[in-house]
Amino acid sequence: MAEFDYDLFVIGAGSGGVRASRIAASHGARVAVAEEFRVGGTCVIRGCVPKKLLVYGSHFAHSLHDAAQYGWTIEGATFDWATLRDFVASDVDRLERAYTSTLNTNNVEHFAERAVVAGPNTVRLASGREISAKFILIAVGAWPVMPEIVGAEHCITSNEVFHLPELPRRVVIQGAGYIAMEFAGIFNALGSDVTVVNRSDVILRGYDHDLTARLQPIMEARGVKFGFNRPIREVQKLADGSLLVHAGEGDPIPADVVLVATGRRPKTDGLGLENAGITLGKGGEIPVDAFSKTACDSIYAVGDVTDRVQLTPIAIREGHAFADTVFGGKPRSTHYDAIPSAVFSQPPIASVGLTEADARAQLGEVRVYTSDFRPMQNMFATQAERGFYKLVVDAGTDKVVGIHMIGPDAPEILQAAAIAVKAGLTKAQFDDTIALHPSMAEELVLMR
Ligand code: NDP
Repeated sequence: MAEFDYDLFVIGAGSGGVRASRIAASHGARVAVAEEFRVGGTCVIRGCVPKKLLVYGSHFAHSLHDAAQYGWTIEGATFDWATLRDFVASDVDRLERAYTSTLNTNNVEHFAERAVVAGPNTVRLASGREISAKFILIAVGAWPVMPEIVGAEHCITSNEVFHLPELPRRVVIQGAGYIAMEFAGIFNALGSDVTVVNRSDVILRGYDHDLTARLQPIMEARGVKFGFNRPIREVQKLADGSLLVHAGEGDPIPADVVLVATGRRPKTDGLGLENAGITLGKGGEIPVDAFSKTACDSIYAVGDVTDRVQLTPIAIREGHAFADTVFGGKPRSTHYDAIPSAVFSQPPIASVGLTEADARAQLGEVRVYTSDFRPMQNMFATQAERGFYKLVVDAGTDKVVGIHMIGPDAPEILQAAAIAVKAGLTKAQFDDTIALHPSMAEELVLMR
């Protein structure tokens, strides 16, 4: 008789949990996973995937507009939100089935209910059943933060935005981070009147200032309004069902939808971690070591719940490293340097490595190269939006320590360029590389 019901019990079937389950099972572990909502987690169900499909869907607005200048006549083009929304939902269903089948084919037992920690080697399911496991992995992710707003019940978060019954005529978005900028772009392109209000005067804090300084006026030229130093105090529901947003000083803003996107907090409430002697951090996160082990030797945690870097590929990498470490006999930790990231704003931003400001603070002497160009695909476009790329170079070693890009397809281009930064290539090696012409990416090797 085995000492425990399972070798591994995973709580949360999102990106990190599914990867850890599959890899642990492939190393021979007997694995179970509990998921209280849908298999796939935030990224698949109500994050990266459906968001990117909405971005694609909204791009047609610009393409159809520009098409006329390339000789196309598009008569009677109209947009139907329900069609896009339902298409996105059906793709999410497809992916959920794919994730579920991954669990099944790897013999991972799936409990479709909430589980909490009852002790160092015990979880308790919502049904009351207790299950023992040699190891427990917490991969429950994070949850949208709702600031103190009178009338918060009239607001939505990114959890609800994918299910709107109709395309809102007027949208107010609180926050100026990833989600705010991405949905401002989507709703603006689809024809909604969009106002972004933020508590500070900074958009996309953490990104290189030259990128955000380029993005904001482009968004404004496309019709997005910004209200800075305007945290929402109150959202009032009027007799006709519409909303009135009271934010900072200034006139109230009428809206049909108020989307709050003010960060995501680890989803640890009521998870029972105290039963295993684990104390949460200030933001509700689970503190872990380099191998994702918590203060309890039999309990590990990966992904957003640890609040290291809230990005899907990081959760996947941490989940994989955990499984290799604990079940594969190959101790591995995750490296957090040179993480590429993107904001699927319109135009998108992509970045890897140090910003210019961080490089100056950390390295002292840096050289900066920039290219401010009009992408060929915008030549005929009515909006003459310019792209901007920046290379940040450590003057001491000539290594490229940061690449920052805004312009069409920037995320697609940056993924390849991130390999060079991760590999520590020098500016001289960038210069040595022959340009691929005509492309936007060639700017990366032409900056002098
Ligand atoms: P972000 O952390 O990106 O941005 C939060 C925004 O809300 C900031 O503008 C911040 O203002 C503001 N804010 C924070 N707290 C408050 C508060 N209490 N009251 C009012 N405003 C507040 O969060 P998001 O919700 O946009 O996204 C959550 C996370 O999800 C991201 O950090 C990212 O890791 C991930 N994500 C990644 C995506 C991608 O990779 N493309 C896409 C979407 C999400 P200020 O800066 O002024 O402090």
